[in-house]
Amino acid sequence: MTTTPIETETSGTGFDTTDLSARAREHLWMHFTSMSTYADADVPTIVRGEGARIFDTEGRRYLDGLAGLFVVQAGHGREELARAAYEQAKKLAFFPLWSYAHPPAIELADRLASHAPGDLNKVFFTTGGGEAVETAWKLAKNYFKLVGKPMKHKVISRSIAYHGTPQGALSITGIPEAKMVFEPLVPGAHKAANTNFYRAPEHGDDLEAFGRWAADDIERAIEMEGPDSVAAVFVEPVQNSGGCFPPPPGYFQRVREICDRHDVLMVSDEVICAFGRLGTMFGCDKFGYVPDMITCAKGLTSGYSPIGACLVSDRIAEPFWTGGASFPHGYTFGGHPVSAAVAMANLDIFEREGLAQHVLQNEGAFRATLEKLTDLPIVGDVRGDGYFYGIELVKDKNTKETFEGEEADRLLRGFMSKALFEAGLYCRADDRGDPVVQLAPPLIIGQPEFDEIEQVLRSVLTEAWQRI
Ligand code: PLP
Repeated sequence: MTTTPIETETSGTGFDTTDLSARAREHLWMHFTSMSTYADADVPTIVRGEGARIFDTEGRRYLDGLAGLFVVQAGHGREELARAAYEQAKKLAFFPLWSYAHPPAIELADRLASHAPGDLNKVFFTTGGGEAVETAWKLAKNYFKLVGKPMKHKVISRSIAYHGTPQGALSITGIPEAKMVFEPLVPGAHKAANTNFYRAPEHGDDLEAFGRWAADDIERAIEMEGPDSVAAVFVEPVQNSGGCFPPPPGYFQRVREICDRHDVLMVSDEVICAFGRLGTMFGCDKFGYVPDMITCAKGLTSGYSPIGACLVSDRIAEPFWTGGASFPHGYTFGGHPVSAAVAMANLDIFEREGLAQHVLQNEGAFRATLEKLTDLPIVGDVRGDGYFYGIELVKDKNTKETFEGEEADRLLRGFMSKALFEAGLYCRADDRGDPVVQLAPPLIIGQPEFDEIEQVLRSVLTEAWQRI
């Protein structure tokens, strides 16, 4: 057991980096982290945030190029969000949503329904994104049992997509390396093509033909499994994992038609893409489709307190609302009053400051600034939407040859992540598909920060190329 207090007056910031690192190494199991990488190195420890900046134990300042983890839409250090949490905790710190309600959850459900497209008017709260995905799959299975189609239970999702870590959500996830050590997972989750146009040479320049092909691959998967056995299709508006694959024009309209044709529910997993990330309240609004369910979390509170939600259409909720059936599912902390109150205050900021509109107004400038990097030999593709971008790194721009195995590992984990951080930019170098640098900054930034991101990336990517 450790007894030393966390704050000591040794580095001028009030934190003792060496001591904190030692204690982290001893006790703190970091997520998706190879702990041995810190055996002889300090654990990067962030102590404070302000706007789009974060600060470490040494007082060093970084631009938060990933909004924490696609979360801090309104930026760090917002007193009014902290105050909303304080006020609610004082009034009612906790009560469950198990047969009882509380005002913050009621108000937030009402507000989310008012923002949601179509008839998505029912809100089932969770504590995070993976639980929202888990909820959507369970609800789809339960719904079809109630409407007399009990065999419909499978799901189709897209290759390399990430949908969370609970075992159902992990089955839906399409990243083999994230799943292997947990097999066997929940059966019935099958994969179709994603919308990685950069790696679809057979379609040449014809983005729309590629989109038709990619949507039809979902239909192929439904038919292969048997439509009578398929309950839902899970899609992100812009697929994160693999490096920001936007949908080709018409893609989601075709997926919607396919789902309707086979009586399969369309679930829009917006854990990243909702709440202004693409410049609209929900990602589906940006691309003009109406799903049967939306899963969301992260940006709903800008991270000031955890919450997630599964938004459900009236049609899917109907047999539960009128038929006497209950959905036997829930979480102690789902729709936590403090988190719900913080979400309300966060949505007030969205409205008052026009955060989503700010993204729409500036997304072109963000894209144009990042596209300057395409003059570098290592940058193969810059893609994304809104304030959500992936920069794919290649060995050869002409052949699109990628970095693989040990080389990708050396480039991304051995050099890039650390070099970007040391240069003052927190973002993510990822190789769950082909190697990419991912950016999803707080929604409050503008041209000065775009330029800063471009300059740091330019210098680090130039050095990376020299090292290859
Ligand atoms: N779904 C998507 C699309 C995500 O990006 C994530 C996390 O990044 C999740 C689900 C899982 O969310 P959480 O980590 O809150 O469980």
